[in-house]
Amino acid sequence: PAEQQPFDPSKKTMVLLGTGWGSTTILKNLDTENFNVVVVSPRNYFLFTPLLPSCTVGTIENRSIMEPVRLLMRHKNREVKFYEAECTDIDAEKKELVLERRKSSEGQTEKIIINYDYLVVGVGGTVNTFGTPGVEENACFLKEMGDARKIRRRLIDCVEKASFDHISEAERDRLLHMVVVGGGPTGIEYAGELHDFLEDDLAQWYPGLADRVRITLVEALPNVLPAFDKKLIDYTQSTFSDNKITILTRTMVKEVKDKSFIVQNPDGTRSEIPYGLLVWATGIKSQPVVNKIREQFSAAQTNGRGLLVDEYMRVKGAKDVWALGDCALSGYAPLAQVAAQQGKWLSRNLNKLSKKHAEDPDADMFALIEKSRPFKYSSQGSLAYIGSEKAIADLPFFNRNITAGGIATFWFWKSAYLSELFSLRNSTLVASDWVKRYFFGRDISRE
Ligand code: FAD
Ligand code: NAD
Repeated sequence: PAEQQPFDPSKKTMVLLGTGWGSTTILKNLDTENFNVVVVSPRNYFLFTPLLPSCTVGTIENRSIMEPVRLLMRHKNREVKFYEAECTDIDAEKKELVLERRKSSEGQTEKIIINYDYLVVGVGGTVNTFGTPGVEENACFLKEMGDARKIRRRLIDCVEKASFDHISEAERDRLLHMVVVGGGPTGIEYAGELHDFLEDDLAQWYPGLADRVRITLVEALPNVLPAFDKKLIDYTQSTFSDNKITILTRTMVKEVKDKSFIVQNPDGTRSEIPYGLLVWATGIKSQPVVNKIREQFSAAQTNGRGLLVDEYMRVKGAKDVWALGDCALSGYAPLAQVAAQQGKWLSRNLNKLSKKHAEDPDADMFALIEKSRPFKYSSQGSLAYIGSEKAIADLPFFNRNITAGGIATFWFWKSAYLSELFSLRNSTLVASDWVKRYFFGRDISRE
C-alpha cells in the first residue's frame, strides 16, 4: 500500500530519485511551496565525488565531503519527505514506484509503493566491469564512500602483512604491488593520491618497505586521459614516470583472480601479474532501475546505456518523467558539472511552470516546458590532480582552451574545489584536513 506522504491535495507530488549532483541541486533550488516533494535514495547524504580519491589514503577524512540530505531539507519552506531506500521498479501507467529498504543487517528487505505525479530520475550510474571475470569478487571500485573506505583498509592490510618477517620475498613483492585499472580521470587521480601516501607517509612509517612498493596503471587505449588535451596527457605521463608509476598502455585486463590478474599485452600475448591491491576504475554503466524504466517506454528507449532525453530533459516516450546526470543520455559527458547545471535548469523551469499550474490546475507542465529555452551545457573546464602537488587543467577562456599543468595549477585545483564544496561546513572540514595533513601527515591506523 502507498505510504502516507506530506500531502497537500491541491499540489502535485514530485518524486526525486537520488541524492547525487543532479537531484540534490534540484532539491536545493526547488520551491517546495509548489509541490509535495519526496526524495528517495539509498544514501542519506550528498557526496562531493571530485575529492573522493583523496579519501582513499586519508588526505581528506570521509565525512568532510559528505553532506546529510536532511540538513538541506531543514531549510526548505515546506516539509520534504525522505525515504532511505532504493527504487527498484516503476509502473508508469499507474504512476507508482516500488521502493526497497534494507530491514536488517542480514540483507532482509521490505518493499513499499509510493505514487508520483512528476518524477525526476537522477540515480547516476554504477561501475562497469564489462563482465570481466573476477572483478566483482576481487577488485575494489572507486565510486561511493564505502569503496574509498574499503581501499584504505585493504591498503593498510597489504602493508601490515608485507611487514611480517615470516613471508617469502615473492609474497612481499606481491602484497606491495598496487594496481589501478583504467587511465581515465578516476584512475589517474587515485594513482596520484596513492603515490603521495607512499612518498609522504609510508616511507616514514615503514622505511624497510617503501622502496619496494610499486604502482602500475593499466589502460586499454594508446594513452591515458583520452578526453584531455595532448599536452596534458604528455605532462601526466612524464609526471607519472618521474614518480615511478608504471603505465601499461594498449593493455587490457581480461581477468582478476584473488592474488593476480591476467592482461592482454599490446602484441596479443597474455601475462599473469601478481598484485596486493587492485582498484578498478573503468567507467560506468546503467543502474538496474534505469533498465526497468526503459522497459516501460521501450519503443522510444532504444539505447541500453541510459535514458534517452530531449533538450528539456524529458524522458523520451514517457509522460511526466524527467532524467538528468549520469543516467540520462543527453549528449553530454557523465560529469558532476553537467548534472548540477541540469539540476539548476530543471528546478528553475519547474518553479516557473508550477506558478502556471497554481492558476490553472489543468495546465500540463510536461508539455509546457517546451516554451522554456532548451538546456545547454556550459563547460567550466576540466581539472585533475595527478600527484606530487601537481594538477592539470583544461579551461575554456574566451572561446579558446587554456591548458596548464604543475604546482600553480594544483593551488588553483585546491581553491576551485574548496569554493565548489556543498556548504561552508564542508569547506571548513576539507581545509582543516589539508592543514592537519601538512602538520601531522596522514593517519595510517586501520579503522
Ligand atoms: P550521482 O552523483 O552518482 O548520484 C546518484 C544518486 O542516486 C546517489 O545518491 C545514489 O545513491 C542514488 N541512487 C542510485 N540508485 C538508486 C535507486 N535505485 N533509487 C534511488 N536512488 C538511487 N565529475 C566532474 O565533473 N568533475 C570531477 O572532478 C569529478 N570527479 C569524480 C571523481 C570520482 C572518484 C568519481 C567516481 C566521479 C567523478 N566525477 C567528476 C563524475 C561525477 O561524480 C558524476 O558525473 C556525478 O556524480 C553524476 O551525478 P548524478 O546526480 O547523475 O549521479
Ligand atoms: P572513464 O570512462 O573516463 O575511463 C575509463 C578508462 O578505462 C578508459 O580509458 C578505458 O579505455 C579504460 N578501460 C576500460 N576497460 C579496461 C580494461 N579491461 N583494461 C584496461 N583499461 C580499461 O572512467 P572514469 O575515470 O571512472 O570517469 C568516469 C566519468 O567521471 C568520466 O566522464 C570522467 O570525465 C568523470 N570524472 C572526471 C574527473 C575530473 O574531471 N577530475 C574525475 C573523475 C571522473
